[in-house]
Amino acid sequence: MKKVLILEDELNIRSFVVINLKRAGYEVVEAGTGQEALALLQKYPEIGVAILDIMLPDMDGFEVCRRIRATNKQMGVIMLTARTQEMDKITGLMTGADDYVTKPFSPAELTARIDALFRRLGGDVVVPKEVLTYGPFVMNTRNHTLEKNGKRIKLTQVEYAIVKLFMQNAGSALSREDILTAVWGREYDGDLKIVDVNIRRLRVKIEDDTANPTYITTVWGLGYKWGA
Ligand code: CA
Repeated sequence: MKKVLILEDELNIRSFVVINLKRAGYEVVEAGTGQEALALLQKYPEIGVAILDIMLPDMDGFEVCRRIRATNKQMGVIMLTARTQEMDKITGLMTGADDYVTKPFSPAELTARIDALFRRLGGDVVVPKEVLTYGPFVMNTRNHTLEKNGKRIKLTQVEYAIVKLFMQNAGSALSREDILTAVWGREYDGDLKIVDVNIRRLRVKIEDDTANPTYITTVWGLGYKWGA
């Protein structure tokens, strides 16, 4: 089923959109803040179209759009603009939005815009292969960037290579030797401790609680694993 995200902090408008989109046959994911929306977009990379309100409690819709476009050029983005704010349309299109709908809008108008974007996407949404996602993390393997909850995490090349290896093997235990060979190369004959040193540094950068890591977990007697 085609999935749509609606970001709108005003509950009555959001409910109105949700009801009408469901009636039109879409699967709908809803958010009331920018942060919530970005987290949901990472959780559901199959979302094909996002509808973004502009005035939000934590950040404006343009900023949300900008962050979506940093990792995803394909998703359709529709801004919800107020009638009085002509400038919104221009700003929205400049931050990468595809279309806008002026409040108040009719359900038919909104679904027509969404349908048009899905048609342009070619029906099925193709998740670009250069993007790896896991929980709050989005890795763009083309730009070599890692984001957590929409925030960029600065990594060294080695740290980046380790996280990429983990994300490509989520849930599988990797030995220190596996990691050393994959990241430093087969020829490298340094100490295995270099793996532990890098993992320790990575945990400081990516874990919520370094003392209780939940992303890079230790597999006793073997090595490490991405995820619980
Ligand atoms: Ca609002």
